[in-house]
Amino acid sequence: MVVCRDTLYGASDDRKEQAQPCGWSFTVLDDKDEADKQQKAHADATEHRFFLEISRCPTVVTPPPGSVLAGRLARRERASR
Ligand SMILES: [Zn+2]
Repeated sequence: MVVCRDTLYGASDDRKEQAQPCGWSFTVLDDKDEADKQQKAHADATEHRFFLEISRCPTVVTPPPGSVLAGRLARRERASR
């Protein structure tokens, strides 16, 4: 996800008090190139330059074998069968 952090008046503008956040954002599932392309297109169209890139990476954490949590998960798995 790419979010524009610029304001409608631009970052270098003196009227910061009344600056409205741009609010533009682009979300894509797994195509970083497309996100870059859309970000560049927005920057070209608006001269906005400040963006926030947010990426989420799915992670599976498994407890080390023999740990208390591993034992607990194993018992729960047996119980659900
Ligand atoms: Zn913008």
